[in-house]
Order: sequence, then C-alpha cells, then structure tokens
Amino acid sequence: MRLPIDPNLPASLWAETAIPAPRLDRLEGRREVDLAIIGGGFSGLSAALFARDRGLSVAVLEANDIGWGASGRNNGQIIPTLSKKDPADIIARFGTDHGERIIAMVRDSAELVFGTIRSLGIPCDAEQTGWIQPAHSPGRVGLARRRSDAWAAHGAPVEFYDRARIAELLGSKAYFGGWGNRTGGHVNPLSLARGLADAAQRAGVLVLTRTPARAMQMNGDRWELTTPSGRVMASRVILATNAYTDDLWPGLRKTIVTANSWQLATAPIADSVRASIVPGRQAVSDTRGELGFFRYDAANRLVTGGASTWQIGAEANLRERVGDRLMAWFPQLSRLRFDFVWSGKLAMTRDFFPHVHQLGDGVYAWIGCNGRGVALSFAMGRELARLAAGDDPRELTMPLTPLNTIKLHGIVNFVAPRLALWSYRRADRREISA
Ligand SMILES: Cc1cc2nc3c(=O)[nH]c(=O)nc-3n(C[C@H](O)[C@H](O)[C@H](O)COP(=O)(O)OP(=O)(O)OC[C@H]3O[C@@H](n4cnc5c(N)ncnc54)[C@H](O)[C@@H]3O)c2cc1C
Repeated sequence: MRLPIDPNLPASLWAETAIPAPRLDRLEGRREVDLAIIGGGFSGLSAALFARDRGLSVAVLEANDIGWGASGRNNGQIIPTLSKKDPADIIARFGTDHGERIIAMVRDSAELVFGTIRSLGIPCDAEQTGWIQPAHSPGRVGLARRRSDAWAAHGAPVEFYDRARIAELLGSKAYFGGWGNRTGGHVNPLSLARGLADAAQRAGVLVLTRTPARAMQMNGDRWELTTPSGRVMASRVILATNAYTDDLWPGLRKTIVTANSWQLATAPIADSVRASIVPGRQAVSDTRGELGFFRYDAANRLVTGGASTWQIGAEANLRERVGDRLMAWFPQLSRLRFDFVWSGKLAMTRDFFPHVHQLGDGVYAWIGCNGRGVALSFAMGRELARLAAGDDPRELTMPLTPLNTIKLHGIVNFVAPRLALWSYRRADRREISA
C-alpha cells in the first residue's frame, strides 16, 4: 500500500488556525545521516530532537506535509494516561520492573509535552489547564475513583471529583463524578507539529517534506532509503508512521487496525455562555466506550467529535449526533453550529498497549496509540531516540516485542472497528440505564 502524496492537509480547524509551516524542501539527490526517521508527526519530530541532543545527524522524511497524519488532525488533548489500560494492567502485562517504568513514563508524559513547548517557545495555544475524565454513569464513578487512587499511588497529581464538583467543573449535570490530572491540557496540534519541525530544523535536523520513503534496503553497512527524488543513507532508521503506516516495512501495517475518528468544531461560543461551560478550560474526555470529549480552542470554539460506523454520509450524520450530544450535556447552548468537520485515523493494537519493535539491524518503530497518543508520542519519540543512540534495549522503558501480524488483516481491519463501535454503544446505553 502506498501513501498518496497529498501535501495539503484536509480542511480542518487546525489547518485554518495554525501557525505557518516553516519553509521545508523535498529531498533532492543523495544525503548521508546517522539516523533517518520516517514520518513528520509528533513521534518522528520529537525523536529527531532527542536524537540531535544525543549528537546524531538526523533526517526526517515526511511523505506529505508536517502534521499531515494524526498529529495535525487530532483533538489536541494532552493526556497522561493510556486510553484503556490502567497502572494495574500495565504491571500485569509487563511485570513490576518494566511496568513501574512505563507507568512513570505515562505519568510524566503531559509534562514532557508542555515542558518541551515552553523550552522551545512554540506558539501553539498551549493551555496546561488539566485533563478531566468525567463518569458518564453511576457505575463508572467507581472506575474514576479506582483510577484516581491508582495514579495517586504512583505519584501523579490527580484528584477525584464527586457529582457536585464535576457539575461545577464542567457546567453540566450530565455526569456523576470523575477524576482529573493537573498536568494535562490542550494545544493547537498542527501549530505544535509545525513548531517542532521548525525547532528540529534549527537544531540541524534535515526535515524533508513531500518525500515518501518507497523502499529500504541494506547497502553495505547502511540502510538505503529510496524516495522519488533521491536517496538517504543511514545506519539507523526509525519508523514513526503509526496509523499511517504503509508497506515500507513488510508486515508492520498489519499489526494494527485503523479506526476513523471525526472531529467537529463549533462556531466561537459567546462569552456569556462560555463562562458556564468548563470555566477552567480543561481538556475533557469521558468514560464512554464511544468517547465523549471536548475542549476549547483559542477562539472559544468547542472542539469535540465522534465516530461513525460508515464513512459515506458520516459528516451529516455526525453533525446531528454530536450536536445532540453536546446540547444534552450543555443545555445552556441554545444554538449550535459546526464550522469545521474533519477526520483522521487511529492505530489500535489487539492488546491496547503501544508496541515498540526492532524490525531489523538498527531499525526501530513504535505503533499503536490506541486513540490517546499525543503525550505518548513525545515519550515514545524519546525512547526511540535512545535506541537509535545505542542505549541498551534492556534499559529502555518499553520492552521490545516481536512483530505479530493480524491474520486476515484486510477483513479484520474493516470489521473490527465497526464491531467495536457497535459494542461500545451498546455497553454505554446499558450502563446509563442501569
Ligand atoms: C482525529 C484524531 C483525534 C485524536 N485526538 C487525540 C487527542 O486529543 N489526544 C491524544 O492524546 N491523542 C489523540 N489522537 C491520537 C494522536 O493524534 C496520535 O497518536 C499521534 O498524533 C501520533 O503521532 P505520530 O507522529 O506517531 O503519527 P502521525 O502524526 O500519524 O504521523 C505519521 C506520518 O508518517 C507519514 N508517513 C507514513 N508513511 C510514510 C513513508 N513511507 N514515507 C514518509 N512518510 C510517511 C505520514 O504522512 C504521517 O504524516 C487522535 C488521533 C486522531 C486521528
């Protein structure tokens, strides 16, 4: 499967409001670096910056434009948790030693993002106002309490909220309690991606756009990456392509299923109403399987979204469904207009954990954000840079795992996200009426 060369980002709120992209060129001719990174999103760009700090010469090859993948299309919520796995699940899966390291990595991941933004001075409307996960049913209040307790036990700055407090924080009576982490928040993600590319370029990274890597093979003791307009030679390669992984490395794409996530942004909310809806401007994503989420952008639009089983007619359907949902949570929104609708792909793994792979001699990848990957991409970028700089894989936070492809991938990739959405909707309805 080949990625199309479509440098233009889809029309989205972020494409409309982000800072301009730095001037970047496509590859021409032949270049030699220590490390070639495939993918110009948060993972690739943060790996590039960390690798430069370790003294490597680095090139980033992006098939389209910076932030063209999930990094330029997401909701911009900076969340220091995995989407479906809690600290106890992490220890059960990876054991105490790696488990504790992974928990610490996830716990500190939002601060890593905001710290990077501050130290590089990236103008990306960053608001470290906290992240809140409200409970959508009485039954889920127990889950919120357990999550809050578990993360507190691992040193995270979290808080549990009862029903009255969550109503006050959100300006909504639709939730039954919840919890939150003060280090979270939100950004304009495309500005962040472009700011990282600019910083990487200034740090001496060769950042190339409209440069798809079409093939890679060993040539002597180096990898030769072939693109339509030239070649890059590198002794180490990082694949940071996540949900937009193509067939550059055989099988990698078949270790995940991709699910479409839709984003919708309202017209700016009038100040009089805005003051009663999430007055603290936190990022919010609830406990539903079919996630309910929202945050403000710099112009006070509510940026929210949803999922659709079918992509044909999805936009009209989502305008209605997501609009109804938002009005039910916030009846004070007497009128609602969506000015922007767009979508992007999420990379889901079978075990809902992110995977780190060594694919070949000096070739590394991480894949599987499972819907929550902005903060994680920064932490994983740092992990991959450490591998590329020669750190002992046993010292890393995430253990390397073998590449396990999904059988009948084409069928599973089509059916699984639809079945999952259907079962999430059923479970959400059941819990609400329980
Ligand atoms: C709609 C949506 C909403 C989301 N909301 C949130 C959120 O609010 N909070 C959160 O934590 N997470 C969210 N996520 C997840 C998060 O956006 C991703 O986990 C994260 O951006 C992944 O970054 P990345 O750099 O790994 O991959 P990407 O940003 O997808 O970058 C991969 C890049 O690789 C390039 N590429 C692929 N193959 C090649 C090749 N052969 N040669 C050159 N380039 C190639 C692609 O063009 C692409 O630009 C959301 C995702 C989506 C899609």
